[in-house]
Amino acid sequence: MKTPFVTKELVQEIVKKYPTPFHIYDEKGIRENARKLKEAFSWNKGFKEFFAVKATPNPYILQILKEEGCGVDCASIQELYLAEAVGMKEGDIMFSSNETPAGEFAKARELGGYINLDDITLIDFLDKECGIPETVFCRFNPGGFYNVSNDIMDNPGDSKYGMTRHQIADAYRRLMMLGAKNFGIHAFLCSGALTNDYYPMLARDLFKLAVELHEETGADIRYINLSGGIGIPYRPGIKPCDIMKIGEGVRAAYEEIIEPAGMEVAIFTELGRFMLAPYGHLICKAIHEKHIYKEYIGVDACAANLMRPAMYGAYHHLTVLGKEDAECDHRYDVVGNLCENNDKFAIDRDLPRIDIGDYICIHDTGAHGFSMGYNYNGMLRSAELLLKEDGSVQLIRRAETAHDYFATLDVCPMMKNINYK
Ligand SMILES: *Cc1c(COP(=O)(O)O)cnc(C)c1O
Repeated sequence: MKTPFVTKELVQEIVKKYPTPFHIYDEKGIRENARKLKEAFSWNKGFKEFFAVKATPNPYILQILKEEGCGVDCASIQELYLAEAVGMKEGDIMFSSNETPAGEFAKARELGGYINLDDITLIDFLDKECGIPETVFCRFNPGGFYNVSNDIMDNPGDSKYGMTRHQIADAYRRLMMLGAKNFGIHAFLCSGALTNDYYPMLARDLFKLAVELHEETGADIRYINLSGGIGIPYRPGIKPCDIMKIGEGVRAAYEEIIEPAGMEVAIFTELGRFMLAPYGHLICKAIHEKHIYKEYIGVDACAANLMRPAMYGAYHHLTVLGKEDAECDHRYDVVGNLCENNDKFAIDRDLPRIDIGDYICIHDTGAHGFSMGYNYNGMLRSAELLLKEDGSVQLIRRAETAHDYFATLDVCPMMKNINYK
């Protein structure tokens, strides 16, 4: 069972002010989860989570996480502007970009962010642009396949990120020559991991690498960035990760590898999905039904509001609000209005009978949901709302209007005299 954090009654109240579709986030859930993560790694002196901004790039969300002691992980200058807006300070920003355009490293440094280099060739690029900072991170790619407990988790050998084992040693040597004093290692080898073993395995590998690189190059390695990748159970019946167990697993590896080497490192994370996905819903309304070779329910949201099902075939659980306890004796495809046949939030899903006007809650949209939105077919981005701890609802981003959609056509006189509805 998956229980929404909103009820039909609350949604009926909300739509009087903010019509569907909208994304809504649960402040209480976000805070409690962030505190649990902090507790799981409280054994590590310098531990810090840098929330992956791309998952939910809204300043109100970043502000909540900041209050819980999190920093942010950015990969573009726009994400840096968001970090600046919420007042992220020296040491609160991790800039884990790749194929970095000119000017972005300089902005990250101006804000006191850590620079995480994706490639060895970026050293000279960084040096020319804004000099080499005292602390530099390098992103590692071990190549091959990445296995956790005999399961292939991902294929780093086929991924564009990071440096090879040989390059990362050379990178540290060169960075030291150019004045860098402290180093971090970063790796992101698997996304959406549902096993408690991923972080401990990755930590073990990176701790070993840190000890080796220290011996080989003399580099003073102070930080291990485990990046993102902890998954959440999108399907009901799947066990969520146990963050306390994960923290303990990383601790065991630390005591086994880092402590005997006489080293001390701070653990950093860049979680996105784990921090936000369960604490967001996309709320939409059934507006049409269609009976052809299959039974369809048309809703007022579409893949432009939540791309994951269309893009990855991702499962998102649906709850028909007010029918939580009704029998799932109907089988539907629940679809949006894009002229794209993959615009389906659910395919052959057993649900209670859906009536026109029913509100449907699409679960686990808090990360990589709104943010992956787009404007195909002239579709507009929805509003984002925050369900606050005191039960009130705050608009944290208004819905796009036709004026927003056409704003960049201000070069075109033909667009001037249209009266948008
Ligand atoms: C996307 C991303 C993350 C967050 O990944 P999740 O799977 O959401 O935890 C963290 N770090 C980097 C560099 C990323 O690109």
